[in-house]
Amino acid sequence: MDFTDKRVLITGGSRGIGRACAIGFAERGARVAVNYRSNASAATSTVGELAGTGHVMLQADVTDPVAVEKLVAAAVEALGGLDIVVNNAGIWVDHFLEEVDYDEWQDAWSRVLRANLIGPANVSYCAARHMIKHGGGKIVNVSSRGSFRGEPDGPAYGASKAGLNSMSQSLAKRLAPHGITVGVVAPGFVDTDMAARYLDTPMAAEIRAQSPFNRVAKPEEVAAAVFFLASEGSEFSTGAIIDVNGASYLRT
Ligand code: NAP
Repeated sequence: MDFTDKRVLITGGSRGIGRACAIGFAERGARVAVNYRSNASAATSTVGELAGTGHVMLQADVTDPVAVEKLVAAAVEALGGLDIVVNNAGIWVDHFLEEVDYDEWQDAWSRVLRANLIGPANVSYCAARHMIKHGGGKIVNVSSRGSFRGEPDGPAYGASKAGLNSMSQSLAKRLAPHGITVGVVAPGFVDTDMAARYLDTPMAAEIRAQSPFNRVAKPEEVAAAVFFLASEGSEFSTGAIIDVNGASYLRT
């Protein structure tokens, strides 16, 4: 796939899946704005590895609507426009219903929904308003297998990703007349910092065995689906949700 001269903003582009996306987009000719929340050294390292020139790192917390507006404006200014946005930043918070008190329960729901759903909604708003004026674009949202399978240890996470799927499909309809596509990638377990809490424990063997490949995904395998949805020629797949879970969970 060729992304020569495409201008790409990736939220949470400094580590894990976002980092693999940044590296792959740059290898294919794009200029990339790598957003991160607080880990500047990871962002510096990722931007330093990108092929080509013109890449930038942009700090912003996607849970802050004002920061999101500034982030999109800064990406447009630094890259000279915006063709592709990947809403990848997300968080996981354990909140076992029987164990957390009511305040902790509310805190988990608030933090997770703000990061995984409201943040992408605001990034999508700001980016789409720019894209509408400039001939279209592509938005790709990173969801999760948990949106379909349920997340008993973190119900807010599953709900946030189910909401992200629904928002993406609503926006796919709303934005198609403007030449903007909206697609979703729904990974199962991926070998990143987020999953390390499980993959570095005795549960790892059971998690790997969920897939008939007996392993979890590499970040690059999730990025490959992101690239498809961001590529020229994929327009009629707008609204699609691509599973990247190694057949660990098959939905119809
Ligand atoms: P990760 O390794 O934990 O990296 C998270 C990235 O998001 C980092 O760049 C982090 O920035 C950034 N981030 C987190 N909160 C942010 C915020 N409020 N504002 C801006 N940036 C923020 O995560 P990952 O595993 O690559 O996950 C990426 C996406 O895939 C998430 O949406 C996640 O839900 C989804 N996913 C992951 C898995 C999995 O097994 N790993 C499975 C299904 C879906 P800092 O470096 O500054 O902290």
